[in-house]
Amino acid sequence: MNKRILVSGGAGFIGSHVATELIQAGYDVVVADNMSNCDMTCFQGVQKITGREDIPFVKIDFCDGDSVNKLFSDFQIDAVIHFAAFKAVGESVMEPVKYYKNNLCSFLNVLDAAKTHGGCNVLFSSSATVYGDPDKLPVTEESPRQSAASPYGNTKQICEDILEDTVKATRRFGKSVCPGISNNGPIKGIALRYFNPIGAHPSALIGELPRGVPNNLVPFITQTAIGKRECLSIFGDDYPTPDGTCQRDYIDINDLAKAHVAAVARMLEEKMKEDYEIFNIGTGRPLSVLELVKTFEKVNNLKLNYKFAPRREGDIPAIWADPTLANKELGWKAGRSIEETLESAWAWERHLAEINK
Ligand code: UDP
Repeated sequence: MNKRILVSGGAGFIGSHVATELIQAGYDVVVADNMSNCDMTCFQGVQKITGREDIPFVKIDFCDGDSVNKLFSDFQIDAVIHFAAFKAVGESVMEPVKYYKNNLCSFLNVLDAAKTHGGCNVLFSSSATVYGDPDKLPVTEESPRQSAASPYGNTKQICEDILEDTVKATRRFGKSVCPGISNNGPIKGIALRYFNPIGAHPSALIGELPRGVPNNLVPFITQTAIGKRECLSIFGDDYPTPDGTCQRDYIDINDLAKAHVAAVARMLEEKMKEDYEIFNIGTGRPLSVLELVKTFEKVNNLKLNYKFAPRREGDIPAIWADPTLANKELGWKAGRSIEETLESAWAWERHLAEINK
């Protein structure tokens, strides 16, 4: 029988790509989402790409513990990948309670249910934001975490800690704290720290669906190119970087999704070296905002309306990953070129324009 993976927040940008890759790798998937930040477009895209009309979909609020427990009773879950969280950095500064409540409660409910129902494995979607503004680049998993600049970033750090503590406790105290673990051993945990996920599926059937004005660079670029936005503001041209604009590690969403498949396999095939592991998921290559804009123009053969604007509060000059550990331990490596990625992002924006006509 296939192993079954629960993807919480599975109808969103990252979740839908991960669900696709999991199904294509032979896993059964349950997609669960409260639809607070997406519609059914991406889930339907997953069905089309995989040719599977029968993927179980559950509309659920992960902050409701009873519903989460019921979900784990209804399906035998071997591993859960947890994406269900709010993610707007600026909004989290304005509404910290909303962010702490949602992002922490939903994760605690997942862990509670995982403990009760067979002690399944847990993969947490973390972020490079935990490294803050690093002293040394590139960052390895050993680079120190820095105090978070936003409540959103803080929820990532706290959830990492909660997962690590839970994993340790189930190893140490076994069945007395985790009634379901008799078959599967202790709960295992992996945190994947993503750098900047961008792009869309090559089919252009799934991609990012920002609500309102996008905060992130690539959706803002594609919306400007299609005429939804007038002009891209490049925030800051006086950073201490080669061309003065910020540098990031832009990771293709399909490559990122494949890293999850590799991590799930590592957990289920009992290849983990520790009960709790952390991996950086990035390309290892820095790219500046200006380089990204120019590449977007070139590969898609268009001119983008952009201007330089003041620095955006909270932005750091540069960060990129050292992905050596993930390359070695997960047998995973980012494979798509930035050109392919930016072509896909543009194809997705045009697909959206087509279906919303
Ligand atoms: N950025 C920009 N204009 C925008 C949005 C983002 O110049 O409209 C820059 C931002 O300053 C940062 C980079 O693009 O240097 C990536 O920003 P994003 O919000 O996508 O991700 P972050 O690295 O902040 O998580």
